[in-house]
Amino acid sequence: MLKDANCIVFKVGTSTIMYPTKKTNIRVIDFLAQVLCDLANSGKRVVLVTSGAIGVGVEKLSLEKRPRDTAGKQAAATVGQCALMYLYDKMFAQYGRSVGQLLMTKDDVDHANRRQNLINAFQRLFDFGVIPIVNENDAVAVEEIVYGDNDSLSAVVATLVEADALVILTETDGLYDANPATHPEAKRIPVVEKVTDEIRALAGGTETGLGTGGMATKVHAAEIAAESGIPTYILNGADPKLIYSLIDGKDVGTHFLAGKDSL
Ligand code: GLU
Repeated sequence: MLKDANCIVFKVGTSTIMYPTKKTNIRVIDFLAQVLCDLANSGKRVVLVTSGAIGVGVEKLSLEKRPRDTAGKQAAATVGQCALMYLYDKMFAQYGRSVGQLLMTKDDVDHANRRQNLINAFQRLFDFGVIPIVNENDAVAVEEIVYGDNDSLSAVVATLVEADALVILTETDGLYDANPATHPEAKRIPVVEKVTDEIRALAGGTETGLGTGGMATKVHAAEIAAESGIPTYILNGADPKLIYSLIDGKDVGTHFLAGKDSL
């Protein structure tokens, strides 16, 4: 099905594009740029939702650790966002594509006019053959207007651009039936027909959760996307070329059904 998708939103998290050393994983970013540009060349509309502003800011400012206070995180994000976009701009340019930065908050999406402006901007970027790169506008996104995690943001972006699919790249091969860190026999769940309490519990969304770190927000994102009939795929981002396997219909990652698929 993804082979025929016209528009795909990809989301990548800080720990996929940065090493534990707090330095950027240039190999992953380069592969990602190559694959996304290639998909764009094949005629698909692609959007990248990226985290990493705070992480890259911490690196750039040579901070020992991620600031805890809001102002500190915001300051780090403003520095890191520039560095991150500079890197994406260079990497995507190698493969012949320009990128456009969109920084948004929940407020922008909830406000009808601003929402429409965002939709218009995305459309025009697609017309120009530009790859939109989105992050939350961390410098202004305080408590009441914050999405907080880019998984939810990516699902909202998928809705705004009426994507055919959302692909969330992460550090695991998908959602497992137990925590693979503590249960070596844990198996990847290839397809989730519907997000039930059991699935939420596996993702660690409840106190009894067995799940892998960070899965709860991904499962929540899949639910948001499914409300608009958009299927979500959770895929290992360590090798972005897996995206081709996914598009070729191979059994990789976890596919959350939505829309006509789930009927
Ligand atoms: N917007 C944050 C950043 O770029 C990341 C939010 C998240 O980790 O999901 O650092």
